[in-house]
This record gives sequence, C-alpha cells and structure tokens, in this order.
Amino acid sequence: MKAVCWHGAMDMRVETVPDPTILNPRDAIIKITSTAICGSDLHIYDGFIPSMKAGDIMGHEFMGEVVEVGPKVNNLKKGDRVVVPFPISCGQCFFCNRDLWSLCDNSNPASNAGVIEKLYGHSPAALFGYSHFFGGYAGGQAEYARVPFADVGPIKVPDGLTDDQVLFLSDILPTGYMAAENCNIQPGDIVAIWGCGPVGQFAIKSAFLLGAERVIAIDRFPERLKMAQEMSGAEILNYEEIDVGEALREMTGGRGPDACLDAVGLEAHGMGLEGLYDKVMQAVRMETDRPNVLRQAIVACRKGGTVSLAGVYGGFIDKVPMGAAFNKGLTLKMGQTHVHKYLRPLLEKIQNGDIDPSYIISHRLPLEDAPRAYDIFKNKKENCTKVVLKP
Ligand code: NAD
Ligand code: ZN
Repeated sequence: MKAVCWHGAMDMRVETVPDPTILNPRDAIIKITSTAICGSDLHIYDGFIPSMKAGDIMGHEFMGEVVEVGPKVNNLKKGDRVVVPFPISCGQCFFCNRDLWSLCDNSNPASNAGVIEKLYGHSPAALFGYSHFFGGYAGGQAEYARVPFADVGPIKVPDGLTDDQVLFLSDILPTGYMAAENCNIQPGDIVAIWGCGPVGQFAIKSAFLLGAERVIAIDRFPERLKMAQEMSGAEILNYEEIDVGEALREMTGGRGPDACLDAVGLEAHGMGLEGLYDKVMQAVRMETDRPNVLRQAIVACRKGGTVSLAGVYGGFIDKVPMGAAFNKGLTLKMGQTHVHKYLRPLLEKIQNGDIDPSYIISHRLPLEDAPRAYDIFKNKKENCTKVVLKP
C-alpha cells in the first residue's frame, strides 16, 4: 500500500510499504477513505518529537471502511464505516474505566524501554502515528491501517453523514470540546483562546456551545481570525498588532478573562528536553520571537480562573509563572484528549446540526500530495486551515 512516511524534519515521503495485517484477536484492518494532517503532526514535521524512526507511518486522524476483523472483535464487521479515535485504549484498565482514555495503561507497555517513565513518571496511552514514545504504531495517513482494540475505539458512522462531517471526531473536535469543557464555563463567562488553527476553531465553537457569553480569539493570520469571527462569533485580536495582555484587560473591565485556553502548544515556545535528551534538545530547541502563550494565558487570566491547555507540550517548558498561577488561585487543566468519551455526544451534536465541523477544511488532496500538504499546512500557504488527504 501507499503511506506517508517520516524521514526527518520537513521530510515526508509517500512510499510503498507492506499492507498491515491482523496481529492480535482484537485488531481490525481499516481501508482509509479520509485522513487529515493535524497541528500535532507539525511537531513531528518540525522535528520536536524525539523517538521517530525513518519510515514511520504518520497520521492519527482517520476514518474508513472495515475490511477485516480479528476473532475477538464482535461489534464490527466487514463493510462498516468507522471513525477511529487517535488514542489507543484497551477499555478495561483503571484509567479507561474512569473515562481517562488517553491515559490507558495497556496500549503503550514498552514505551521505549522505560525512557518515557523516567521523563514523565508514568506512560500515557499509545497514539497512532506518533513516535515510539507513544507506542510506535503505524498511523493512518495511508491506504490501510491496523486498529488495535478495535472492539473499543472505532465508532460506526450513521448513514447520511459525509466523511467531512465526521472525520474530526477522531481528534480535533473532541480536543476543542474537552479543552472548552476544562474551562468550567459559567453563564456570562468570557473565554480567551490563543490559536485559531483547527483546534482553536473548535474550542471557540465549543466554548459558545457550553455557554460562554464572549470568546476572544487570538492569532496572527487574518483568514483564521476571520473564520473565528464569521463561523463562531468570536471577538478577535491579532497578536502582531496589539499587546494581548493589555487588550484582554481592557476588554474584560480590568478583571481578565474567566478562562484562558491555549490552543497553540509547542509552536510558541523554546522547547527543552533537558537531561536525558540533551542531544535531541540541541537538535530540536526552537528559538522563537513569538510571545509565550502559556505565560500570557496565566498572567492574563482573572483571579480564581482556569487555564486550559489543548496545545501539545513535551519535555520541559521553562519559566512558567508558577507564582502567578499559585497566588491567583488558578486551576490548570490539560492533556491528550479522552476522545472515546466524546465520540457519541459529539456525533449527536453533528446529527442535530449543532455543529458541522467540515467548515474548517480548506484543502482536499490525494495522499500522493502529502509532502506538499504538510508544507502548505505548516506554512499557512494558500490560506490553508486544514488538509484532508484522500488515499
Ligand atoms: P495549527 O498549527 O494549525 O494552529 C496553531 C495556531 O496557533 C496557528 O494558527 C498559529 O498562528 C497560532 N499561534 C502561534 N503562536 C501564537 C501566539 N503566540 N498567540 C496566538 N496564536 C498563536 O494547529 P492545530 O491543529 O490547531 O493544533 C493546535 C495545537 O493543539 C497543537 O499544539 C496540537 O499539537 C494540539 N493538539 C492537541 C491535542 C490534544 O489531545 N490535546 C489534539 C490535537 C491537537
Ligand atoms: Zn490530531
């Protein structure tokens, strides 16, 4: 089959690789019909995620048709159309039983010879196409994928819904929604959201769905800001034109937003993987003159408010203003999304017409165009907001 393979920073290649096969009785094989590129893939593309190996298959936002199931998968059959959540979860451990699906104890057992436990204390769930830190599973930017624990993750798509409408259940719709839910929104609340990429767009929409009175969206790309304004009704700030902290104070009567949501992540930081990963760190340290979103969010947030992180972090992030967070009594919430928990409720919202996530797609391209697709999504060329690849 054809698959998008990683060969180094900024080096994605479409290659012919062996078809996946059933390795475990709970596996299914999916023939992929739509697969997207995520902001998280850009961290790999940028070379910030260590523990990638040349030839690793990318992609964790995908859907398609079941073509084969292992003997222990009783809920799916050949021909079913499914969306696959990006975390791989067993459905039976301490964490899955508590709806903490992205923290599954059983999908990422090797976790790179214990290195991730040394860095993080415990290992999170495995993720499709997201390095050997996260299990080393082949991703879904391919013609086929093997889906482990297929009796737990994939959700069947009801007739009448297009791929474009349901594909983002795999990740970014639940991610935006969970990040907004983590804001503990109360009636009348003002929520500030950094980043108007796909995750930010859905966080903005979700914040309104969850009852925010006002959402202030921050980015520097006019077309992304315009989308936040026109599609969701956000007020917008271009951080290249104004002082974000000052503007937020002014717009909230001096008090600060009730919640601040970071939908940017690593991109806006010098990222350090000190100690164990000295060498990697030298290779991946990103110098940036962009404002540090996490610092801005903590300082801008009103006393007693919540800072919610959807943006992905790795390694160590220096100079987080813990003093401000502590003395203002802030709540910090974060993490990989527990996608499984949100699949059904969000599918219902799509069916009701509360949300049609397809509006963020700017490009639909054949799988063969993946190298160009990464380039335009990363560099925001051609007003690119989201690419869907069609194998
Ligand atoms: P994206 O790269 O398309 O969007 C990021 C946006 O942030 C861009 O529009 C960029 O201009 C903006 N930005 C950069 N610096 C900024 C700053 N200083 N202030 C305000 N805006 C700034 O990516 P995306 O697909 O929207 O993903 C966003 C983040 O969410 C990424 O870090 C991604 O890894 C993360 N993510 C997390 C999860 C999860 O499970 N928590 C899942 C999916 C994606
Ligand atoms: Zn993603």
